[in-house]
Parts: sequence; C-alpha cells; structure tokens
Amino acid sequence: MSQTSGASTPSNPASAGPVGGLTLTVVPVTAFEQNCSLIVCEETRRAAWVDPGGDLDRLAAVAAESDCVIEKILLTHGHIDHCGEAGRLAEQLGVPIEGPHREDRFWIQQLAVQGQMFGFPKAQPFEPSRWLEQGDVVRVGNQTLEVLHCPGHTPGHVVFFHAPSRLAWVGDVLFVGSIGRTDFPRGNHADLIASIRERLFPLGDDVAFVPGHGPMGTLGEERRTNPYVGRTANA
Ligand SMILES: [Zn+2]
Ligand SMILES: [Zn+2]
Repeated sequence: MSQTSGASTPSNPASAGPVGGLTLTVVPVTAFEQNCSLIVCEETRRAAWVDPGGDLDRLAAVAAESDCVIEKILLTHGHIDHCGEAGRLAEQLGVPIEGPHREDRFWIQQLAVQGQMFGFPKAQPFEPSRWLEQGDVVRVGNQTLEVLHCPGHTPGHVVFFHAPSRLAWVGDVLFVGSIGRTDFPRGNHADLIASIRERLFPLGDDVAFVPGHGPMGTLGEERRTNPYVGRTANA
C-alpha cells in the first residue's frame, strides 16, 4: 500500500525535537512498517496521532511515556496501514478523527475488504468527524498545521504541514527516492506528480518530511534527485 520501490525502514520509535513548538515521535506500525507519528504541542502537552494504522498496544506505550493528552487523530488517507485502527483508537480515547479529504470515503468504507486482503485485524468502521480540504488548518494544542490536498496515490490524500518546525507529514505521496503507487482504484499518476510539484515542493527545500514508509527526507533533496519527480525526471 506504499511506495513504488522498496526502501529501508526503521523499526523502532524515533524521536525528534522539540522543534518549533512540537515534539515528533515516529512509530512504525503494521506489517507494512507504516510511519505512525505522535505529535505533541510542547506548550500544552496536547497531542495527536497521525495515521494510527495498527499496533495499538505499542502506540499506547509510546503515548504513556510522552506525558501528553491525546486530543485527536489525523489521517492522511484511507489505506488500511494508515487508518485500520483509527476507529478503534478514537473510541478508546474518546477523540475525534480529522481527515482525510472526502474523496477517500470509499477507501474507508472498504476497510474490512482491505483488511481481509492484507491479513489485518478486523477494522472498526468509522466516519471521520471532519473531512479536510485544501487550505484548511488543524490544531494540536496551540500548534497549527496546514492542510494540503494531494491527490494521486488516493483521490482524497492530504498532507499536514507545520510551518514553525518546517515539518510535513506526506503519507504515501512522496518517499525518499520514490513516490506513491498509483495503480489502485482511482489512483492517478499525473495528479500525483502535480501534487508533489505544485503543492509540496513550493513549501521549501528546507522542509523535512515524514513519509508513510521508510526514512525521513527533505523536499530539497527530493526536488534535486528523486528519479520520479525531481529535476531530472521526465514525468
Ligand atoms: Zn497508501
Ligand atoms: Zn502506506
């Protein structure tokens, strides 16, 4: 459910920060080693999980160590490795789910089918409390994240950008040296390239990104060297 070609993935939680008012902890979850993120507002200790696809026991342990109060769940897109446990976690914690864009509703409604196909635990059905649009903002404690609608991998994929820390959560749009697959229903290669070039790259070369799988990177390095969407790519 991830990238075009394989990349090495970290399997232990990795923390960064605090930078720009928030602390980031990345926890790879599920057999797909999907990068679930805990983001904590340093001022308020209020926090959000981004893409809690699975391994809830592990996520609970990380949250307990982080001295924070989870106030919401953010979703980049409707694939099971990203949101398979979002419904269950939202119910356990009594928190809302924000995102992705409404165009991914069909993926979320098919979570049970996705789960059977990939051998995941039975997903708890859910409907996000809030669908997100290009230009929306989401709040975590006192921190504000900008929402970019980046279709292509899925039609309703969104990216979250925290300007003060120059950090973006890009899900399966962009990876180090690769881009998201577009061979799923309603995937679109041209849309994906446009999303990366016209919405992500303008954020700035200095922006670091957490991809859905594999190591973190920077937009500048991908703009220079990514074979699918970088300066030398034909696409
Ligand atoms: Zn995906
Ligand atoms: Zn994925």
